[in-house]
Amino acid sequence: MLTSICGINWGDEGKGRMVDLLSRDYDIVCRYQGGNNAGHTVINERGKFILNLLPSGILREGVVNVLGNGMVIDIRHLTEEANKLRAQGIAITPENLKISDKAVITMPYHVLMDCLEEERLADKKFGSTRRGIAPVYADKYMKKAFRMGELLHPERLYARVKDIVEWKNLTVEKGYGHAPVTAEEVIDYFKTYGEPLKDYICDVGLYLHEANKAGKNIMFEAQLGALRDIDFGIYPYTSSSSTIAAYAPIGAGVPNLKLDKSVGIMKAYSTCVGEGPFVAEYFGEKAEKLRAAGGEYGAATGRPRRVGPFDVVASRYGIRCQGADEVALTKLDILSGHEELEICTAYELEGERITEFPFPDALDKCKPVFEKVRGWNCDITACRKYEELPREARDYVELLEKLCECRITYISVGAERDEIIVRK
Ligand code: GDP
Repeated sequence: MLTSICGINWGDEGKGRMVDLLSRDYDIVCRYQGGNNAGHTVINERGKFILNLLPSGILREGVVNVLGNGMVIDIRHLTEEANKLRAQGIAITPENLKISDKAVITMPYHVLMDCLEEERLADKKFGSTRRGIAPVYADKYMKKAFRMGELLHPERLYARVKDIVEWKNLTVEKGYGHAPVTAEEVIDYFKTYGEPLKDYICDVGLYLHEANKAGKNIMFEAQLGALRDIDFGIYPYTSSSSTIAAYAPIGAGVPNLKLDKSVGIMKAYSTCVGEGPFVAEYFGEKAEKLRAAGGEYGAATGRPRRVGPFDVVASRYGIRCQGADEVALTKLDILSGHEELEICTAYELEGERITEFPFPDALDKCKPVFEKVRGWNCDITACRKYEELPREARDYVELLEKLCECRITYISVGAERDEIIVRK
């Protein structure tokens, strides 16, 4: 079974929590895109963990985790993240972590360039997480990046450093006027953070291909949601890679394999980190209340997230982009305690009501059309069966199914592993 777990919205839907739950049925969990710019929070019987680069399967014994070629890997961050988890009692060895030789290395100068560019943009900034992600993907496509597999042949790698540094300084030093990057610091960096990872680096494509032939179950875990996809998202306020399920086999290293299932993770309301259009946004007291109830502060950056009610227009588009066969609705418990709830069922664009997600440039001119539905006043965290949910909560779920044309098979009512309703 090859399954992709992907985000329907702007990210932070609770993908980590769902991968943690569903990984019990999988032998291998792969990350296939992005870097350490996003954070998954997972709470289970072993503790509370924040994962930026490592797949959530790392928290389950017996699961093998893969960092695929579609990723950009900050080797210092990876080392620190792994050591933090080890201190929390999680084993991380070449047995349960395999890193693609074709994954690209995020360098300190990528982080520097990210910061320099955000500062240059000042009030026009994109709201980058400043983890170097856009600069390193740019270098990948310029064919000027370093890849993990090069760490296995240091002499060849070091011979390439001088040329790359010379080219990089055309922007860092001559463009931004910053102190130059030196070849020595780059080589030192590889020695300190790269070489100790040698035993983890391999041809993960071959590993996954063989595993699939042997009948192993493989899960692909996305970081960020459909609306942050470089092609299909709210460009340019997107991530720099493809967050789409169809890309999962490519980004993991097995373009020859086809997914059996795409599970979309969709939040019961909307949140968005950083800049960019966010049509159904709440402001003021309404926003404060929802943000506080949902604990909506970025796991990677601590930034307060922008919040709003459920957005049907954006979510239905996200479901289509992800080809979601099933949807897991998360954080429904956060909506408890309201007489009435709003949902955004359409946008108004230049006097016209639209229900299909437009070309992103038009989003700034879109106004949300809110409709009211009945809420529920009781706590639903203890519900484990669909029938135990109050009528109004079930109506809410069924209305989203109808409006978004999807099948909601999981309803998450809390952050803990077992706080879930399975509805097959
Ligand atoms: P991800 O990046 O998609 O994994 O999402 P984040 O980790 O950024 O955000 C999800 C947050 O919500 C985490 O703190 C989870 O522990 C928490 N969470 C996930 N599902 C639920 C839920 O159903 N109810 C509540 N109350 N919290 C949840």
